[in-house]
Amino acid sequence: MKTIKDLDIDGKRVFIRCDFNVPKDEFGNITDDRRIREALATIRYCIDRECKIVLASHYERPQPGKYEERFSLKPVAKRLHTLLKIKNEILMAEDVVGEDAKSKAASLESGDILLLENLRYEAGETSNDESFAKELASFADVYINDAFGACHRKHASIDAITRYFDQEHKAAGFLMAKEINFFSKMLEEPIRPFVAVVGGSKVSGKLQAMIKLVDKVDKIIIGGGMAFTFLKALGYEVGNSLVEDDLLAEAEEIMQKAKARGVKFYLPVDVVAAAEFSENTTVKYLPVQEIPEGWMGLDIGPASIRLFREALNDAKTIIWNGPMGVYEMDRYSKGSTMMSNIIAQTHATTVVGGGDTADVVNRAGDIDEMTFVSTGGGASLKLLEGERLPGVVALQA
Ligand code: AMP
Repeated sequence: MKTIKDLDIDGKRVFIRCDFNVPKDEFGNITDDRRIREALATIRYCIDRECKIVLASHYERPQPGKYEERFSLKPVAKRLHTLLKIKNEILMAEDVVGEDAKSKAASLESGDILLLENLRYEAGETSNDESFAKELASFADVYINDAFGACHRKHASIDAITRYFDQEHKAAGFLMAKEINFFSKMLEEPIRPFVAVVGGSKVSGKLQAMIKLVDKVDKIIIGGGMAFTFLKALGYEVGNSLVEDDLLAEAEEIMQKAKARGVKFYLPVDVVAAAEFSENTTVKYLPVQEIPEGWMGLDIGPASIRLFREALNDAKTIIWNGPMGVYEMDRYSKGSTMMSNIIAQTHATTVVGGGDTADVVNRAGDIDEMTFVSTGGGASLKLLEGERLPGVVALQA
């Protein structure tokens, strides 16, 4: 894959598609700026080459055409300025491809940075509209895609825009290249034992990735809500726990395939169960064989944590995607926190994918202990499924 280093960008106008879709709290404060920090390498590279820089990103899902302040990228411009430690302000456009953006882009000097407003304020972004893409493309001579977290989507700033740049004028940014290289290297030549830890709410979202992983890994550890579909497929009574009845056959098939390939398959042996989906209720620590009717498993229990620790002991490569329980509630967060601690303490190459999982690792204070924490949940899952990302395909077309 061609990267920004392969292009001649000196003094040119460069459009960088970033993924600044960062989490914010109820006061609008950015709670985790990792995606902004990870974009710095490419931006600094352009500053050093005296480029005129136009940055663009989506932020959450505003209604197109409606400029609501809570979806504005203004807080990102401020944080970016702080992180870059540069004297000049980051210019913030009031719109995406409107008058303000155009006049600010036209007056950029070498080394200046302009951030366009939330791409999704424009309907053309998600519909991959050609004319919107053309307007975006008119901002620059060179197009760089550094938005790994968004490149599994065929949107105008990811896909259609690339048609307006030839091979000498478009490439991946450093973050994008790092993410893709890391995942492909890990999947192609993992150091074994290679263990996948998969959790989260549902089997459905990760089914394809799991089918692929069974072919590659030595062990699979399942936690979170999705474990109950597997447990039910094995004949356990799981009460009111999250179950996808329409996927019982697929769950069974994955377990059969694992068995046939000699892949060790681990499910929770105990759970933290409650009668309702709430923190303010009685909880019981129970073996999976004893979940009472009407109760639901909301976290893995201490015996499962011990079992999973044993299974991870000899791992040399670990990929983790999906929390072990409803980690957003303190009461059901221990399984995920402990899993984070265990993985962080191994001597394995550790790769974390998925926004929720990165959040768990962050809360557990383990982020610096992991080998690699991906900035893209959906995109990293697509890579695990063995698919080529539309954003990467578009760069090579
Ligand atoms: P996903 O987006 O599929 O990775 O799922 C993440 C979500 O799964 C988190 O919001 C968790 O609260 C949720 N989750 C994890 N374990 C359970 C469980 N046992 N029951 C219900 N939801 C769960």
